[in-house]
Amino acid sequence: ATPTAVMVGMSKAAQNGVIFKDGMSLEMLGKVKTIVFDKTGTLTSGKPTVTDVISLKQSMSGKIIGEDKVLEVAAIAEKNSEHPLAKSIVQYAINMKIQLGKSDSFFAVPGKGVRAVYDGNNILVGSPGFVQDEGINIESAQRISNQLQEKGKTVILVVWCETLIGLVALIDTPKSSARPAIQYLQKMGIKTVMLTGDNQSTAKFVADDIGIMTVFANVLPSAKSDVIQSLQKNGPVAMVGDGINDAPALTSADIGIAIGSGTDIALEAGNVILIRDDLMDVVSAIETSRKTVSKIK
Ligand code: ADP
Ligand code: MG
Repeated sequence: ATPTAVMVGMSKAAQNGVIFKDGMSLEMLGKVKTIVFDKTGTLTSGKPTVTDVISLKQSMSGKIIGEDKVLEVAAIAEKNSEHPLAKSIVQYAINMKIQLGKSDSFFAVPGKGVRAVYDGNNILVGSPGFVQDEGINIESAQRISNQLQEKGKTVILVVWCETLIGLVALIDTPKSSARPAIQYLQKMGIKTVMLTGDNQSTAKFVADDIGIMTVFANVLPSAKSDVIQSLQKNGPVAMVGDGINDAPALTSADIGIAIGSGTDIALEAGNVILIRDDLMDVVSAIETSRKTVSKIK
């Protein structure tokens, strides 16, 4: 590797919005066999929209549990969470002019949901798997949840006083650059993979939409790097991510690519930073790397 060729490659990449933190990363990137993409905020906009609020319980201790109550309970618990799903739920509740009280305590469970106490009552808001693991009967939500998930929506169950009272569904649309970027990478002989904490049917819907064939869903933040390691058996792996949860996977991969609009922790963990929110820049970064290395030989 002549240092000059690497310098030229790095500065050319920078002009195109791709920052390589060091020359080694530039030389490495073109050699990857697999690129793993985080779903939320990386392949999708990361700004989910609430599409459905459903009440699953007519009444509780004489009080009517309508959609407004479901949304109120969810938003009170999510108010302290930084998660994109949480922010969307809270914003939606505010738009619906729902008054949100302050919770007495709050606890986030990464990759699962949140717990809160409000007015002396326990609230649980999160994925169906999480709620079920907490010992709540989720049978009344099963059918509708499956239907919503098959349409690519993420379903968040709402539990109040140890009772499932309803659910909120959200949709997060793919970035317009996702599909073309995936098509290009596949033509370049690179295997593309989706890695997400979201459930299998939602993940599969999004993957089909953008043309990704391999999906690892229901993966907890702590297990994301294990998936990377298993894929490394087939050669070098790059990981593209944006969130706090993605940092360990970005570090485990041979090359971590962080989306510039993502969290500081992801930016720190990445070897490469994409300044723009355009997934085609992953393609151009690989092309720059390959050209640089072929000049070196
Ligand atoms: P991803 O891998 O797509 O970035 P996460 O690992 O952050 O997703 O979360 C995985 C799943 O956990 C979400 O799809 C959601 O079901 C649930 N979850 C995580 N955080 C929250 C939260 N604050 N409120 C509700 N559900 C949550
Ligand atoms: Mg993400």
